[in-house]
Amino acid sequence: MSAVPQTPAELPVKSPECFFINGKWEKPSSNGKLDVISPVTEQVVMQFAEASPADVDKAVAAARAAFDTGPWPRMSAQERGQALLKVAELLKARLPDLASTWTTQVGAPISLTTYLSGQPPELFEYYGTLIQSYPLIDERRTDHGELVRVVKEPVGVCAAITPWNAPLVLLCYKVSAALAAGCTIVAKPAPETPADAYILAECIEAAGLPPGVFNVIPAGRETGDYLIRHPGVDKISFTGSTAAGKHIAAAAAERLARTSFELGGKSAAIILEDADVSKVLPSLVPFSMPITGQVCFSLTRVLVPQSRKQELTDAYVGAISGMKVGDPMDPATQMGPLAMQRQLTRVQGYIAKGKDEGAKLALGGGRPKGFDRGWFVEPTVFMDVQQSMTIAREEIFGPVVSFISYKDEDDAVQKANDTIYGLHGAVYTQDPEHGYQIARRVRSGSVTVNGLIVDPKMPFGGFKQSGTGREGGIEGLEPYFELKTIYFA
Ligand code: NAD
Repeated sequence: MSAVPQTPAELPVKSPECFFINGKWEKPSSNGKLDVISPVTEQVVMQFAEASPADVDKAVAAARAAFDTGPWPRMSAQERGQALLKVAELLKARLPDLASTWTTQVGAPISLTTYLSGQPPELFEYYGTLIQSYPLIDERRTDHGELVRVVKEPVGVCAAITPWNAPLVLLCYKVSAALAAGCTIVAKPAPETPADAYILAECIEAAGLPPGVFNVIPAGRETGDYLIRHPGVDKISFTGSTAAGKHIAAAAAERLARTSFELGGKSAAIILEDADVSKVLPSLVPFSMPITGQVCFSLTRVLVPQSRKQELTDAYVGAISGMKVGDPMDPATQMGPLAMQRQLTRVQGYIAKGKDEGAKLALGGGRPKGFDRGWFVEPTVFMDVQQSMTIAREEIFGPVVSFISYKDEDDAVQKANDTIYGLHGAVYTQDPEHGYQIARRVRSGSVTVNGLIVDPKMPFGGFKQSGTGREGGIEGLEPYFELKTIYFA
């Protein structure tokens, strides 16, 4: 395997030197540039314009005008739904672009990005269809017989702020639901991965959505901070780290702006005493380190019964060491590099901490042989991890898995819940009903019995410091409405 594989030199984006504001490709107000860097070659792939506060003002003004006086919120739900279905069709026509853009920017294997790039059009299809028959007006009567209509109205201008790991999927959860509800949007993609939002803007433009309904201004956290404090923004929908989420929650509280947060995780896979290891590995292996461990719901803590600790660790380590690490554009690759240099530094820091604090390295810990270029790190497994260790407590966001043993089921549940996070989890057992009972005791937004499923048509989100609100499903539409009660006296 070549140490410096080839990635495409270009991203399939038409106007990276501009922003998409008010239905047009607008020149930036300043000279700031964002470099998209290949995690494989460490070279700049493409430069994008970087938004400044003046660009935020323009984008918010456009979204504000589109909401306050434009046709979008006043169209029928059927018309909006039909427009979203058109966006879905246009996204489908660009599936290969969506997959290659994701892989080029993030280093996620092309086999995975090809599979998952179906989700953005699926989300537009789902919410575009749902809104057409969604109950927006509920007629009731007071005890005195007066007619009351409880109506759902769009919440307003939404700032959609997204991270770099699954840039388009995470943006489309927000945009498809918010647009369906009748909101208008200012999207601020992560500075490292702006390209996907441009492809979405191209599709929205081609679908003929009114100007100002969707705007894109990539930037870093300082400009992002200006956006979330902007008085013209009614709602902030944020996906990213818990640290940034807390900061944004505090800023939003000053004007009681509406918020939804999808934040970090430290999900546990509980392997029960009766689990059949051959049925555990097919989902635990890929979902403990998807996208080189850079997925919020990764099963990064594996809780094993004391009696089966060695057997289960050996089986898992055997399977993980067979994973093909390399060029993410190679369809056979199962793990690419980390997405960026700071990620490599961060993950190496956690591996060193794990060793220092006494966890036993069962696999990996270094750079894979032959990869002295690119932000590659070996899939890494620690065993004998204690709950008090940093690697058991903090979100690493890399391919580092901790095996933790438990005495009995109460101890397993206690350890699974002994975290500030509560995003996802898994329970493995031969008895699905018993697995369900254990799942009910796990304090997280979702749990899979015998595998890992995240379906965009079902609610997804966090307990505790993993977030507030839900994305996906009917529950993912509701946060984009305000309720209004109209009485007929
Ligand atoms: P991050 O919090 O550093 O950044 C996320 C986004 O927020 C970026 O666009 C960034 O520019 C912006 N941002 C950061 N601070 C801001 C501020 N003060 N004001 C406005 N914008 C600001 O996170 P990251 O490193 O890009 O992403 C990794 C994190 O995202 C992990 O913690 C991961 O678990 C989490 N994540 C959660 C989910 C979920 O659905 N729960 C999904 C994917 C990723």
